[in-house]
Amino acid sequence: MFLCYSCTHSKQHSMASLKSSCPKVAVIGAGIIGLSTALCIKETLPLVDLTVIADKFDNDTLSSGAGGLFGPDVSIGPSEEVYRQWCRDSYDHFLSLLQSPDASIAGVIPLSGYDLSTTTEESVKTDVLVELIPSIRSVTEQELKLFPPEIRAGIFYTLFVVDCRRYLPWLKNRIELRGGKIRCSNIKSCEELAGQFDVLVNCTGMGSKHLFGDKYLTPVRGQVIKVSAPWIKHFYFAEHTYVIPGTDYVTLGGTKGLGNWRTDLSSHDRQSIWERCIRLVPSLEKAKILWEWVGLRPFRQPVRVEKETIKLNNGTQKVIHCYGHGSHGIGLSWGTAKHAVVLLQEMLNVSNYMSHL
Ligand SMILES: Cc1cc2nc3c(=O)[nH]c(=O)nc-3n(C[C@H](O)[C@H](O)[C@H](O)COP(=O)(O)OP(=O)(O)OC[C@H]3O[C@@H](n4cnc5c(N)ncnc54)[C@H](O)[C@@H]3O)c2cc1C
Repeated sequence: MFLCYSCTHSKQHSMASLKSSCPKVAVIGAGIIGLSTALCIKETLPLVDLTVIADKFDNDTLSSGAGGLFGPDVSIGPSEEVYRQWCRDSYDHFLSLLQSPDASIAGVIPLSGYDLSTTTEESVKTDVLVELIPSIRSVTEQELKLFPPEIRAGIFYTLFVVDCRRYLPWLKNRIELRGGKIRCSNIKSCEELAGQFDVLVNCTGMGSKHLFGDKYLTPVRGQVIKVSAPWIKHFYFAEHTYVIPGTDYVTLGGTKGLGNWRTDLSSHDRQSIWERCIRLVPSLEKAKILWEWVGLRPFRQPVRVEKETIKLNNGTQKVIHCYGHGSHGIGLSWGTAKHAVVLLQEMLNVSNYMSHL
């Protein structure tokens, strides 16, 4: 006998009736946001009948090309309080993953480095960083001599980097181990899924522009160079230039093209990234270029983590949105996933849920 969380009152069910009464949920999207949200749902509400639907997986997603640094910044949440909670939840998640035997297979590594400024230390030392990492220290005069003269100040701290080329398959595997299903399909309209799921969780990133007609969602084009430079052990951030070593390669960036939809490589951007990175870390001149990449960050202010009931031709469909993470999808992924699960519990009217079958 089991306690079912789709009931408003506690009832006892046989295994057969329990299975047929479990809520059906589809997560649309298999980037870091979709897979994190799907796993968080299965970990919190294990009896949910969960399907992940997406037309791109693993290395074909935007998430797979990101530098992967957890970088709390100025708030991109609906409020400072909500944003800080997302940061704390993500930080706790990645910290506990770092301490688990799965850290390497999931592609999560601790990383220290320099966040540098051409003006003042305060311009990079955000309140949320100070709250999460009390051990932040100022860059010393001695260290400043290592950098070009326009660098005037900076901070040094330890965070972590997430390599999505490992993390996405790890998340997918964990979802499947917990009974979640994976379906490869392009969804042109929510009408296609009418009547199949109690709730749709929309984690389609830039796809939300067409699927849900979101006029506030804008691409921010980013180009990077992936290089082999195993001697680079720290991350370096200076204005729009960054060097982020990961598990298997170093990511050199970057560019931010607001409203730019172009996904082809720009030779101008390549030259600019290469010159800026070498100026910041001269030893990169000896790095071997592995590949180059362009991605469109799904930017929305604020990031949308919200409930909505949409009208279909025949009835309505409950939807939870979780998209628009811009430059911070890797860092905020677990925090917004936890938030989306709270909204799902409200939508399913969950008063009791079980941790074990
Ligand atoms: C150059 C660059 C560097 C970055 N570096 C960092 C960094 O260091 N740290 C950080 O935190 N963030 C970084 N980001 C940002 C980060 O990559 C994004 O915020 C994040 O990947 C967004 O994840 P997502 O799951 O929302 O989107 P995506 O990875 O694009 O996933 C969207 C999913 O939805 C699916 N989908 C969309 N539409 C449909 C449809 N109609 N039907 C079916 N499936 C659909 C897609 O197939 C895909 O599976 C960087 C981004 C770029 C471009």
